[in-house]
Amino acid sequence: MNDMRGFALLTKVHGALWRVDTPAGYIASGRMHYYIRDHQGNVRQVTDSDGNVEQDNHYYPYGMLMGESSDILATARSGRNPLLPSRANPYLYGGKEYLTTAGANLLDFTARTYDPTILLFHTPDPLRDKYLPVHSYLYCGANPINRIDPTGKDWKDDKVKKYVKRLTGKMDKKVEHLEKDVKKCENKIANLSQKGKDTTKEYKKIENLKAQINELKQSKNEIEQLGADKDNTYAFRNVDANGSHRVVKGKDGVIYIEKSSDALALHELRHIAQSKSSGGFVYDEKGVMRQSGLKNTVIRNELSAYRIQYSFDKYDFPSRVDDIRQINNLWLYELKDSNGNRLYEYLHTE
Ligand SMILES: [Zn+2]
Repeated sequence: MNDMRGFALLTKVHGALWRVDTPAGYIASGRMHYYIRDHQGNVRQVTDSDGNVEQDNHYYPYGMLMGESSDILATARSGRNPLLPSRANPYLYGGKEYLTTAGANLLDFTARTYDPTILLFHTPDPLRDKYLPVHSYLYCGANPINRIDPTGKDWKDDKVKKYVKRLTGKMDKKVEHLEKDVKKCENKIANLSQKGKDTTKEYKKIENLKAQINELKQSKNEIEQLGADKDNTYAFRNVDANGSHRVVKGKDGVIYIEKSSDALALHELRHIAQSKSSGGFVYDEKGVMRQSGLKNTVIRNELSAYRIQYSFDKYDFPSRVDDIRQINNLWLYELKDSNGNRLYEYLHTE
């Protein structure tokens, strides 16, 4: 608590002192609220002095808020301006103040997401579409996810072409299915709103579904890019062992995606796209593709690969997950092999 002194920052809103910020948290309404940060310094939770969670934040890899934070949600639902003094803690991703860097967007976010009239009748585009170009795509240099062309046409080998066509066909079906589920939720929200009932759960479901739809669309786009890759030839190889998946460069120069299921093929395809956009492929002495970069990057890439895998098939998945937002750092850390050993512990230790 000593480090709080000297760092304290007084914040005034409308002339009234309403909170004191410190590195450890903030004081508001005469009470201390504490930040729980992850290893990247992102504020994951805010608790009161008794340890009760007041805010819960989930982020996409590049810092977009994935879930709604519970108190911002509550404020928005109550019809109050979510930016005005409340319990709401605006210091989120990277510990930075979210509202000052994306103020208009967050306002937009709350209005769009939690006003049923607007959501249902004015903005068919999900929040994520709006955020991605800023937070994700400019950052990693990938292409907009909305650009989806017929896939498979550029893959060099006929057998590969056929597989890709079948795979992307399945992805389209998935998207269709998920979109139907979104519609169902929207109808339910309309119903519940009329009766003045709580719609929070339905909105959460919609966010979960839309995140999956976006994963699938992004993946389709990546597959198309790989098909058009002039420098490399890719092929698929079935491997028997359940859950096996990796990318290997063959002696013939072909890059083989080894997989025991379609979902795992998508997992590896995501890794290939990541390597491409970060400057090139890295192989070990056996020709197995490795991820390079800082641990945080590798973790981020791994989570991304698991998210597309999950979006395609939640049953072909190493652990039970009910919402894509549960696939986070902690989830990865807890992921164990059949012997009970943590698979990614090495990424989480200093
Ligand atoms: Zn992986």
